Amino acid sequence: MEKIKIAIQKSGRLSEKSLDLLTECGINVSNGNRKLKTDAHNFPMEILFLRDDDIPQYVEQGVADIGILGQNEVWEKEKDVVEIEKLGFGNCRLSLAIPKDEIYTGLDYFNGKRIATSYPKILKKFFREKGRDVKIEELGGSVEIATGIGLADAIFDIVSTGSTLIMNGLKEAEAIIKSQAVLIGNKNLSTAKTELLERLLFRIKAYKNGQGKKYVLLNAPNEIIPDIVRLLPGMRSPSILPLADKGWSSVHSVIHDDDFWEIIDELKRLGAEGILVVPIEKMIL
Ligand code: ATP
Ligand code: ZN
Repeated sequence: MEKIKIAIQKSGRLSEKSLDLLTECGINVSNGNRKLKTDAHNFPMEILFLRDDDIPQYVEQGVADIGILGQNEVWEKEKDVVEIEKLGFGNCRLSLAIPKDEIYTGLDYFNGKRIATSYPKILKKFFREKGRDVKIEELGGSVEIATGIGLADAIFDIVSTGSTLIMNGLKEAEAIIKSQAVLIGNKNLSTAKTELLERLLFRIKAYKNGQGKKYVLLNAPNEIIPDIVRLLPGMRSPSILPLADKGWSSVHSVIHDDDFWEIIDELKRLGAEGILVVPIEKMIL
């Protein structure tokens, strides 16, 4: 039987989360001794462990069929691959940063300046579009020290919390673009592999849909049910089940983490009782 080959980062910020995602999709991978590749136990899938920088090229060439990596690397490599699905982890932004004592005056500040980065293509494109002329110093890594050692006037790099910038005497001047981990794919997958990809995608979406949501069950006297239904729209609409205790019903629904506490407060105020909140593992819409 044909297997789908997925490339994930060998070791780095996305490695564990990529494996976790496969686990959430019911795909078991053991890679105790960090081999180059391994087979999943219960899904026709082969997992290749690679440097994230190489994943776009391998997927373009079909060495891997699909891959998980940051959008930043996908954009920078400009390979002929398709972005299939955003995965909701590995969130960061690509930002321009300057020495902290500098006064930032807007994009004109960068005119004629030397900017160190590992993302020369993204940066070049940005300044071309903005009509500013900058000198780009391409570095493989440790971009954050470039201003300190006098190699550049500014840097363009990945930022998540900003603590690395502060540690290196820098401040964020301009956030250019946001990035997260994505699933990419080869453009010419066989029918069999496309079907495997569809199966995987179905599971990824079910997992993603459950993220950031909770399942709520509560009991309430029938007269306040309409008010509760207004608060809890749920997926389609909440389920209402009569309780053995006459005049009471049980309501089941899904709520978002974002407005979780406000809704709970409101439910209590309305007179709901026995509110039970449970995590959602998967949600098939
Ligand atoms: P590799 O050895 O595979 O080339 P790397 O050093 O290029 O690894 P990591 O530092 O592990 O890469 O980061 C992998 C990806 O994680 C980044 O390309 C980016 O998409 C994402 N990421 C999220 N937050 C951060 C952050 N604070 N710093 C760096 N990368 C981050
Ligand atoms: Zn890398």
